[in-house]
Amino acid sequence: MTIRSAHPVAAALAAILLLAAASGAGAGAQTPPPAAPTAEPPSPAAPPPPAAPAAFKVVLDPGHGGTEDGAIGPTGLKEKDLALDMARRLAALLRADGFEVVLTREGDDGPTLDQRAEVANVQRADVFVSLHANASRSSKARGAETYFLSRHATDDAARTVAALENDAAGVGDDPTAAAAPDANDPAIPLILWDMAQTIYLEQSAQLAEIVQRELNGALEITDRGVRQAPFRVLVGATMPAVLVELGFLTNPEEEKRLADGEYRRKLSEALAAALKQFRARVGARGAAAGTAR
Ligand SMILES: [Zn+2]
Repeated sequence: MTIRSAHPVAAALAAILLLAAASGAGAGAQTPPPAAPTAEPPSPAAPPPPAAPAAFKVVLDPGHGGTEDGAIGPTGLKEKDLALDMARRLAALLRADGFEVVLTREGDDGPTLDQRAEVANVQRADVFVSLHANASRSSKARGAETYFLSRHATDDAARTVAALENDAAGVGDDPTAAAAPDANDPAIPLILWDMAQTIYLEQSAQLAEIVQRELNGALEITDRGVRQAPFRVLVGATMPAVLVELGFLTNPEEEKRLADGEYRRKLSEALAAALKQFRARVGARGAAAGTAR
């Protein structure tokens, strides 16, 4: 059963309907026919699909791109370039470990926020990870942050981060405001978008915690913790999804570190370790849990 659609909202709706159908399947069992003899043989249950070994599929989303630089450090390091390089490094590590990896952009182009989640949906990814770097008015702000979706931000700082990241789509801190599939009735997409990721929030939270723990351990950085905020890029994703802010480009020290190949290697290894843990925990879609290795 494949959820495919040209439209992310339609895909999300299809996922919801499938889930509803699955959960409603037991309702029929309330009215079993009386145990009357019947000539008809019991209809055989549909055979399970062949258990092909499914690779755990990760869609990596290098933030920004094209005309959109994202945050820029004091010496000119651009978030879009850092994010793409980090996605490539992480992809190489993951592929070497048996993951299937797809990037939402391979070069310096700028898909819309909705198109990025749509790539993950069409690919039926097991996980969607959007990679970014932070900006702050305070040049002292430092450290990595991992976010999963919420309609309401954890705090003002998280709200500001989401507003900055959503700004590409001109949606500010309302992730459903612009680019709504039906501009005449934004309430409908709002509900659908919400439900798409809501189903996966628990796993998204788990993934965010694993990612943040690995980043903290590897980098010995200040724990900025797991946070929630209304990121447009996560809203339509129909799988566990997180957004990682790798560090503050606006902090001169941190910009220097983020420009360093060795530091990027450590960062990508920490992210790979996190995704391996998550894969071990949940398994690939369509595979028996925990046997995706
Ligand atoms: Zn960003």
